[in-house]
Amino acid sequence: MSYYSPSIEKLIESFEKLPSIGHKTAVRLAFHMLDLNEEDTQEFINSIVNAKNNLKYCSNCYNISDTNPCPICSSSKRDNSVICVVEDVRDIMAMERTHEFKGVYHVLHGTISPMNGIGPEDIKIKELLNRIENGDIKEIIIATNPRVEGEATAIYLSKIIKPLGIKVTRIAHGIPVGGDLEYTDEVTLSKALEGRREL
Ligand SMILES: [Zn+2]
Repeated sequence: MSYYSPSIEKLIESFEKLPSIGHKTAVRLAFHMLDLNEEDTQEFINSIVNAKNNLKYCSNCYNISDTNPCPICSSSKRDNSVICVVEDVRDIMAMERTHEFKGVYHVLHGTISPMNGIGPEDIKIKELLNRIENGDIKEIIIATNPRVEGEATAIYLSKIIKPLGIKVTRIAHGIPVGGDLEYTDEVTLSKALEGRREL
């Protein structure tokens, strides 16, 4: 049984649905929202609505962006012949923070995971192969996370891309096993990129 009025209860419930938000935090956030003035409340609501409405996938690399193609794909300063393959959009941000990588990206939006019924056709592999077919690609750097699924995806990709005569590399270990690129510091990630080995 709840001590809160239904409107507050509903707000708390909405916060509880967010990742890593427990009940206590949800209550704190809900009450914080109620304390906001009209302007800040509207700004918060607008930022969510705008993000949902304006963001789209880059039809080239599947990064999430306000524009299509995304700023990285449309930049003349990037080397289009080197593609860094990542699992998630957030991994692009992690790589960009290193300021080391001057190529472009391809976001798989997942990893192959037979345990969870996710096969190669369920992630953006076909799209990657299309890019390879239509572009002058010299190297594919596989930067999937060093978990079982990330490794399996790297092996799968190397098996299908290497026969096309393209150099396939894997970023070095050093990223903690089971760790996320997203949470890896810039120095470690730079070193992992620098120390990549050919598959
Ligand atoms: Zn893009």
